[in-house]
Amino acid sequence: MITIPKVLLVGLISSKNLSGYKNMYEITVRKTFSAAHTLDIGGKREDLHGHNFGVEATVASEELDADGLVLDFRVLKKWVNEILDDLDHTFLNNLPAFRNTVPTSENIARFIYDRLEENTSIMGLKISRIAVWESENSKAVYTKNHSGS
Ligand SMILES: [Zn+2]
Repeated sequence: MITIPKVLLVGLISSKNLSGYKNMYEITVRKTFSAAHTLDIGGKREDLHGHNFGVEATVASEELDADGLVLDFRVLKKWVNEILDDLDHTFLNNLPAFRNTVPTSENIARFIYDRLEENTSIMGLKISRIAVWESENSKAVYTKNHSGS
């Protein structure tokens, strides 16, 4: 009779491989939206201006589903589109979401993260990060530390 060491059993149950590392898969979709904002920076209000914002949403999972996917790309695109539809061609400062929060790229990333989490949490998926580009060379990222969960 073969006895399996308890240490190995624990490792199998927690889905760790033998080297002690967990598998992690990520998928990312990219979308754009156009919107205007004005920010107070260093006590000075900027002129009203617009950006073609780029958004990257990255979702992670330790396991793949029966189809070998973290999540169908089309589903993630649909979720992100629904959020960006509320931002596209708006004056961001006037939206309820930014009434008490300045619409910087950082805060836009957090807004998208929180909205997307309403869908991903139901599916047991984690959002790795949301990145928002204000221009081709300027990106802000929002993420949450999951280490406590
Ligand atoms: Zn700007």
